[in-house]
Amino acid sequence: MESKQETNSETAADTPRRSANFYGSVEERLIAQQRRKRARLRFTITALLVGGLISWMASDMLAPDIASANLSAKPAPSNPVLSAELIALAPMQRDYESDALGNGDTLAALLTRARVNPVEADAALDQLRTVYDVRGLKPGQSVRIHREWPAGQDKSTHEGRFAGFDFIPVPEQKVIVRRTDHQSFTAIKRDRLLTDRHFLADSLINSSVYEAARSGGMSPNLVVELIRLFSFTIDFQRDIREGDQLEVLYTRKFDENNQVAQEGDIIFAALTNRGKRYAYWRMPHDDGSHNYFDAKGQSVQRLLMKTPVDGARLSSRFGMRRHPILGYTRLHRGLDFAAPKGTPIYAAGDGVIQRLGTYGNNGKYIRIQHRNGYETAYAHMNSFARRLKKGSRVSQGQIIGTVGRTGLATGPHLHYEVLHYNKPVNPRELNVPPQRNLDAQALTQLSQLKADIAEKVSGLAVSNNSLRSLPRRSSALNP
Ligand SMILES: [Zn+2]
Repeated sequence: MESKQETNSETAADTPRRSANFYGSVEERLIAQQRRKRARLRFTITALLVGGLISWMASDMLAPDIASANLSAKPAPSNPVLSAELIALAPMQRDYESDALGNGDTLAALLTRARVNPVEADAALDQLRTVYDVRGLKPGQSVRIHREWPAGQDKSTHEGRFAGFDFIPVPEQKVIVRRTDHQSFTAIKRDRLLTDRHFLADSLINSSVYEAARSGGMSPNLVVELIRLFSFTIDFQRDIREGDQLEVLYTRKFDENNQVAQEGDIIFAALTNRGKRYAYWRMPHDDGSHNYFDAKGQSVQRLLMKTPVDGARLSSRFGMRRHPILGYTRLHRGLDFAAPKGTPIYAAGDGVIQRLGTYGNNGKYIRIQHRNGYETAYAHMNSFARRLKKGSRVSQGQIIGTVGRTGLATGPHLHYEVLHYNKPVNPRELNVPPQRNLDAQALTQLSQLKADIAEKVSGLAVSNNSLRSLPRRSSALNP
């Protein structure tokens, strides 16, 4: 744009002179020649600068996120012909500050906090909206606000003008808004190339699984997943012994600059508990979902069923509601499933019956204790299964009784509660993978997967040994 304007004005200004020169003196001709030279020079410098600016923008948008201020282009050539406008395009030095969106916060408010001129903030946000829907931004989103000042000058002598901002809304994407010239901005959204790297946590359990996994470099979120994975089979409060062993192969995603961009997955996990080894492999399915399977190809058992009765209709949800008989509003601590009288009720998970009998408004009532602080309760039952009593062991899916309307109930239904350390939780929000067993073809896949993973684990274990002197966290290596 700039170069084109320059060329036009040059031609327009020179044309009349050229015709005058045709009949003019030698001096006039010389002056005209000099003018043309200067105009050509001016054009060349403009073209160079614009070229420089474009390549600066391009390189900057692809450049790594370097924390320190850096020179963004070659030093500006000093030339008296440069107009004030061109000086504004001179190479700049830049740095940034970071801020995060608070609850109910907006990008506009964030830019105001960073003392960005409102007109420029508006212009930048307008450009942003052409590539990104700002409604997708969430509280906690970190944003970098860039400032720039002329290259070669000390920042402290300049306020530093607003040069744009950028943020990473999802690990795979970066949104960049950059100043192009006076009051004008451009925005792009680009993909970030993330690569998976494998890590091995191989620890003896001294105090807890949590501590052992953390010392193996696993993030707290991934440890929660690990604990959930084993909570189907192991009671962490009672079963874990000192000297039990934990082995986890997990991934983490890295960006182009070798920075952790995202948590990964648990690929394989084994826990040797009092000499018995429980091992699970993560197997992806074609539909994008995945399950963990044991060596025999059985999926990790669900901790608790969300619906422990067949052919039932959910008639009342978890949460605050007006009680249909008592009339006042209170927390409905479970789910109601309307079903005909006599419909079988299943134990939602393996456990021990803690209470069985008539229990106030609950009518005929069973409460089962499961692993890791979970309990389930069943109310308004019509009958109990024979031979069940307090202390009986039940397994998941075993019939414990039938649906009825005993106690305070308007009609036959099962009132089902899940408690975690005595606190009611919504059974629908139990985050557990569905159960699934493998067919012959999938079993072959699983054994291939197991072989691949075993190779990876032993490779990592070998490299770990050679790096034993390094701190625990750095023991994580590339495959
Ligand atoms: Zn209920």
